Amino acid sequence: MGAGLLRAGLLSAAALMLAACQAGAQTDIEAGIEAGAQADGQAQADASNIAISETAIPRIKPINKPANKPAIKSAQLPVLGAGEKPQSAIFCEGVFEQGGAALCQTTPNAKVKIARSEKDFYFENADDQGRILIGFDRDETSGFVEAYGARFGFEIKPREYNISRIDGLPPSQVSTYSEAQLQKIRESSAKKKVGFDSREDAILFDRGFSYPIDDFVKTSPFGAQRILNGEPKSPHYGVDIAAPTGTPIYAPGGGKVVLSDDDLYFEGAMVMIDHGQGLTSMYLHVSEIFVEDGQIVSEGDKIAAVGSTGRSTGPHLCWRLKWRNRNLDPELLTRWPGRDL
Ligand SMILES: [Zn+2]
Repeated sequence: MGAGLLRAGLLSAAALMLAACQAGAQTDIEAGIEAGAQADGQAQADASNIAISETAIPRIKPINKPANKPAIKSAQLPVLGAGEKPQSAIFCEGVFEQGGAALCQTTPNAKVKIARSEKDFYFENADDQGRILIGFDRDETSGFVEAYGARFGFEIKPREYNISRIDGLPPSQVSTYSEAQLQKIRESSAKKKVGFDSREDAILFDRGFSYPIDDFVKTSPFGAQRILNGEPKSPHYGVDIAAPTGTPIYAPGGGKVVLSDDDLYFEGAMVMIDHGQGLTSMYLHVSEIFVEDGQIVSEGDKIAAVGSTGRSTGPHLCWRLKWRNRNLDPELLTRWPGRDL
């Protein structure tokens, strides 16, 4: 099952199943992206042997295309003037699901405790409008934020992830990289680190995200995981969406381009956007890049085109989202409260 077949006819049922297989293959290859130089070749060995069945491959009709995006009316939460206090010391709104995010309002520049539990917490400062963004892991179940002794607690809605168990595989074959490949992987990691380290203070997006592609087939959802011979592999921290090579990719929200590179080992050509306060989205395997490092983009701006560069088995966009190094589900941000549907 070659990539050519995938290109030939995405709309046929057979191709949809093929896309599912491709997505399964991409999953572990992309897990290697996170692992960087530690990635082994198991994914590629597995990919050629195993067809993953997915129960349903929904046809996605984006509900808020960039062309129809609503005019930005105001910030999500009231902006406070100097000396003004919010009604309660802190409150938040957003998508309280695993992989989601929320925006909290407190006093300007407040020191905010962000906690998963009484023992697991750290502090971040709100911006000069008292806003602070928080994100939730794939497996997080509850949490709270605190400012000036007031607490906003929340439950995080659990999700069911796509788990594939495959047993009876031949013993793992760890393939090795050549010195040249390792060098390329190290260089790619250094470039990505620059992007990951970017921290725009301002919140540059408004009311969550729109979809980055107008019309596509989702082939692998966020959080999908394979368990091979009883050994759980890294979950797939991204949404894979198949579309023909050259399909435009639009910024799903405002931000600053912090990495646009066409020569990364795993990701191939990739764009990374910093949306502010540690929220960073990524667009992998693209065929063309239309933005430059440092460029400010608005929701709906064309940033790249779908491709299959890097370690990819067919034309698709791997859309990823991180918040301060936690992996979020970018698709959830399309369901931000107050977003015009
Ligand atoms: Zn992916």
